[in-house]
Amino acid sequence: MIVTDKIDEVRQHRWADPGLTWGFVPTMGYLHEGHLSLVQLALAGNERTAVSIYVNPTQFAPSEDLSSYPRNLVGDLAMLETAGVDLVFTPSDAIMYPPDFQTTVSLSRITQPLEGSSRPTHFAGVATIVTKLFNIVQPSRAYFGQKDVQQTVVLRQMVRDLNFNVEIVIGSTSREPDGLAMSSRNARLSETDRAAAAVLYRALSAAKAAYEAGEQSGSALRKLIVDMITAVPQAKIDYVSVADPNTLEELDVIADGMLLSTAVFFGKTRLIDNILIEATEDTE
Ligand code: AMP
Repeated sequence: MIVTDKIDEVRQHRWADPGLTWGFVPTMGYLHEGHLSLVQLALAGNERTAVSIYVNPTQFAPSEDLSSYPRNLVGDLAMLETAGVDLVFTPSDAIMYPPDFQTTVSLSRITQPLEGSSRPTHFAGVATIVTKLFNIVQPSRAYFGQKDVQQTVVLRQMVRDLNFNVEIVIGSTSREPDGLAMSSRNARLSETDRAAAAVLYRALSAAKAAYEAGEQSGSALRKLIVDMITAVPQAKIDYVSVADPNTLEELDVIADGMLLSTAVFFGKTRLIDNILIEATEDTE
C-alpha cells in the first residue's frame, strides 16, 4: 500500500496504467466500519482503490470541533492495509491550502436547508476539498455515505453542474447494534450520552413506521420525531426535518418519497442521522 502526502506521487500511481479503473473514498480518518463499507464497495467495483485521510479545516466553522476532531493515522493505515487498499493520500494543510489559496466552490439552493442552516459555510468547504481531491486522484468512481445525506445530494449536483468525469456511488449507513449510526464523533460521547444517542434512529424509525401505517402529514411526522428525542434529557435538537429527497424542501404532505433527518447535540457533540424513503418506481 502506497501512503503519500505528495500530489505528484498520487498522480504518478494513478496514471501508471491509464487503463485501470480507480475507486476513491475521501475520509477525515478515525476510521470505523462505515468507512470500511465504502472501501469494500470501492475495492469490489474497481481495479484500484485510493482513500484520502484529511481533516479539512474549511468545512469547520470557527466554533466547531476542528481541533478536537479525533485522529488515529497509525490505526487507520493498518485498517486500510488489511482491507487491501492500493493508495492512501494523507496531505497536510500546507499542501491543500498554500498561503496564496484563493478559490472556493460553492453551491446555492441545495446547501441552504438542513445542515446548511446550522452550518452555513460547511458545504463550500466540502465542495472545495472534494473538487481538489477529484482533480488530484481523478477517480473513475467516488464513494460517499448515506449517513451524510445532504453531502451526497450536494456532491451529485456539483458533479452534474461542473461536468466532473466521475461516478458518485452512495453506500448505506453502517450502524451499531442499538441503531446509532457509526461516526468518528461517537468516540467523544460520554457513556450516558452514548446510550442516549440511540434515540436518533429510534425516532426516525418510528416516523417511518407511522408513514407506512398511513400517516402522510409532514408536521405530524416531525412532531413524532421531536417528541421522542426531547423525551431524552441529554438530547438538544438542532433540527428535525421531513423533506423532499431531491430538493430538501420541507413537506406538508408526503405524496411519494421523503427524507427524514435530524441533527442533535449531546453535550458539545453534534450527531446527524437520516432515513430515506425513496419514491416508489412506476413499474408500468
Ligand atoms: P468522514 O470521515 O466523516 O468525512 O466520512 C467519510 C465518508 O464516510 C463520508 O462519505 C461519510 O458519509 C461516510 N460515512 C461516515 N459514517 C458512515 C456510516 N456510519 N456508514 C456509512 N458511511 C459512513
